[in-house]
Amino acid sequence: MEELGFSEGAWRFGSFVAIFLAMMVLEAMWPRRARRHSRIRRWATNIGIMASSYLTVSLVTLILANLLVPITALLAAIYAKQWGIGVFNWLDLPNFVEWIIAFLVLDFVIWGQHWATHKIPLLWRLHRVHHSDHDIDASTAIRFHPLEIVFSIFVKAAAVIILGAPAVLVVIFEGVVNGTALFNHANLKLPLWLDKLIRPILVTPDMHRVHHSIEVGETNSNYGFALSVWDRIFGTYIDQPAAGHDNMTIGLKAHQNEGPEHLWWSLRFPFAKTVSQKALNKEEEQNQ
Ligand SMILES: [Zn+2]
Repeated sequence: MEELGFSEGAWRFGSFVAIFLAMMVLEAMWPRRARRHSRIRRWATNIGIMASSYLTVSLVTLILANLLVPITALLAAIYAKQWGIGVFNWLDLPNFVEWIIAFLVLDFVIWGQHWATHKIPLLWRLHRVHHSDHDIDASTAIRFHPLEIVFSIFVKAAAVIILGAPAVLVVIFEGVVNGTALFNHANLKLPLWLDKLIRPILVTPDMHRVHHSIEVGETNSNYGFALSVWDRIFGTYIDQPAAGHDNMTIGLKAHQNEGPEHLWWSLRFPFAKTVSQKALNKEEEQNQ
């Protein structure tokens, strides 16, 4: 956007590719877990899902921009300023206070949205596409169904308008969240002392991997993307997976078949018949 003095799209894409490549190199040098599947197939599928999301968002943005609906978080920030709406445009706070509050509030909103996608069945249908991946690495961070991406864009834009968050902060926040998502999904073996040092503030790969466990109790924990504090505050923090990082199974219990490896299956997955946890437990009991 000209008023920021740089192209937001170029900044976003450039930093994304740079961090993605950095994570790929780090994962190759210090892998945390042995992979279940070859990278090629999963990466092709996950990149395909991201491309589908990109096309969907572009189309929705094009339609809504004609209706003057500020769909992206950045547009929402610019419009809030132009129209003089949002808490920060009513209060006269020092800039650095606005930046700190906006960062914390936006990160908390994303935490709350993630929590909601696990608790509301309709949203879980979309979010379980992300969880159906059988391995977890940086490419899992881009594996979000197009409809979930559209939903999250609306949530973020609404939060930015209510806050009247500064545009530059919004761009920085999105960069940080995208970067931390690539980092905390990485199949990366951080030295334990480093994990311990970072974890009080940021979500580490070992912390987020617990969230991708096949065990429902573990899936419903560690919702944070950037800051790790919200899970500690709201009692949803689990330190380590019960089975250990090497032996834990990643993905969804009901979908350990080859479906999630395929792009078309993944895009259709929100509309597939659901298997309830109750039915799964029953099946397990019968097998024992
Ligand atoms: Zn999740």
